[in-house]
Amino acid sequence: MIQGIGAAVGVAIGKAFVLPAWDWDVPDQRMEKVDLSLEFERLYEGIRTSKTEIEDMKNEIKETVGVSESGIFDAHLAILEDPVFMSEIQGIIERQYKAAEVAVKEAIDHFVTMFDLLDDEYMKERALDIKDVGNRLLKHLLGTPEVTLPADTNPYILVARELSPSQLVHLNPNHVLGMVTMAGGLTSHSAIMARALGIPLVSGLENKLSKPLETGDFLIIDGGEGKVFVDPSEDIIAHYTAIAENQAKHKEQLQALATVDAVTQDGVHMHLMGNISSMNDLRQVLKHGAEGVGLFRTEFLYMNRAAFPEEEEQYEVYKQITLAAEGRPVVIRTLDIGGDKQLEYFDLPEEENPFLGYRAIRISLDNKEMFKTQLCAILRASDYGNVKIMYPMISSLEELRQANAILEEAKRDLDQRGLKYNVNIQVGIMIEVPATAQIADLLAAEVDFFSIGTNDLVQYVLAVDRMNETIAHLYRWYHPAVLRMLRQTVQAAKEAGIPVSVCGEMAGDEKSIPIWMHLGVDHLSMSPQSLLRVKHKVLNTNAAHVREVGARCYQLSTATEIENELNEV
Ligand code: PEP
Ligand code: MG
Repeated sequence: MIQGIGAAVGVAIGKAFVLPAWDWDVPDQRMEKVDLSLEFERLYEGIRTSKTEIEDMKNEIKETVGVSESGIFDAHLAILEDPVFMSEIQGIIERQYKAAEVAVKEAIDHFVTMFDLLDDEYMKERALDIKDVGNRLLKHLLGTPEVTLPADTNPYILVARELSPSQLVHLNPNHVLGMVTMAGGLTSHSAIMARALGIPLVSGLENKLSKPLETGDFLIIDGGEGKVFVDPSEDIIAHYTAIAENQAKHKEQLQALATVDAVTQDGVHMHLMGNISSMNDLRQVLKHGAEGVGLFRTEFLYMNRAAFPEEEEQYEVYKQITLAAEGRPVVIRTLDIGGDKQLEYFDLPEEENPFLGYRAIRISLDNKEMFKTQLCAILRASDYGNVKIMYPMISSLEELRQANAILEEAKRDLDQRGLKYNVNIQVGIMIEVPATAQIADLLAAEVDFFSIGTNDLVQYVLAVDRMNETIAHLYRWYHPAVLRMLRQTVQAAKEAGIPVSVCGEMAGDEKSIPIWMHLGVDHLSMSPQSLLRVKHKVLNTNAAHVREVGARCYQLSTATEIENELNEV
């Protein structure tokens, strides 16, 4: 067994197809000075053709996968316009009289080596983007055909040194059972796309194989555990075949629940909503029977591109999502960057504690025009359905009031432009900072709803960084301190008569149902993958019984005792 990184869950069993690397043989040709202008012509022609191809791929992905994933290709287009990358290529042609393809190859090598040297996963992944774009350009300059995936064979497990978004565009999920890459981690673009497409992926096998994988090798991969078996024994085949069959059967059984309401055996309706970042996510959550969108994370619209998205572009995305939700509520959260989410074009300061730093609403309030642009786009989309606005990481009443003042400005702006929006749009906040939970009663008087973001709330209540592997065992949402914060928030909402939902990962943990039933929370928003699992659990729950379990949890003193109690249900 080879242990890699589990980048997209699921088990795949089948034969390997090894994708040949895009590795060019570029002879070190030099030009006569008189030929230089010809070389530049060839370079610009290559750039033009590459751009057209990338635009086409972007449109294809927008249709088949989602708007936010298609943004990956905006980053690729930006590379072709990047002055530093381009002047490196031009400099090599001009000063060293080298052919355009030689200059492009050397420039790619230069930047890839530089990024690889940085001890930063994110930059390493961006090196992959440069390679992808550079290879496309080289393909045109050398007139070499593109390496494509076989379409007319039996389904296979795709093996590659690395997979670029361009290669994944044309991938047919019916042909590809699973994927294995030597490079790449959890945040690579191929990992993001694999998860969106629902194809199991194990990455990071570099230096872990005693011999390279070959086309035809029989493989089993476990994308949850990050395991790869080459020519496995009969026992292992039997074991994983059973898991794969169970997965398929369970998936089918769960899918049958999509159209059923999540109602307990004694008639309590739990409203299950979806967390989304793209149109593709929305399709998934609707397919899984969500009653709406409890959290639309808009930051992905801002990522993998060269500049802030303009109002029109954002409006178009919010409008499409709103229309596709067909009247169901869509809670659009304003930009939440900082912490672990960076934007290439926005210079966030290096911080000792990014999660306690310049993040989310703090950035929006500090960049008023950017914030107002987003609010205008959301307001305009509200004319097409049931849109609500939500501010992330509010920690004081002043912040809420400042945000609302900018919202009022955005409304006036639209009035002046004669553009329509829902004048009664609801505005809510995430409860994800302990201070906010503490003053929930004060905030409840000035908002239309609360949504509890347990992902951040847990890290801030327990002082346990949600990204830190070393202390991951201390990150526990069943800690009594977290449960008390939840109770305090829900009580404040109920006293003020405003709705409260939960949209952190805890909502997707079916073990937490007794806590919600006890507190009287009846709206949960979760990732598309969790919806049917949680619904299955709700359907098999007796509310009266689990309410008592939830109440007992509040009598217990440790996370372990509480989890044990919940495990009994
Ligand atoms: C949360 O903090 O629980 C949440 C839903 O927001 P995010 O995970 O995007 O920080
Ligand atoms: Mg959060």
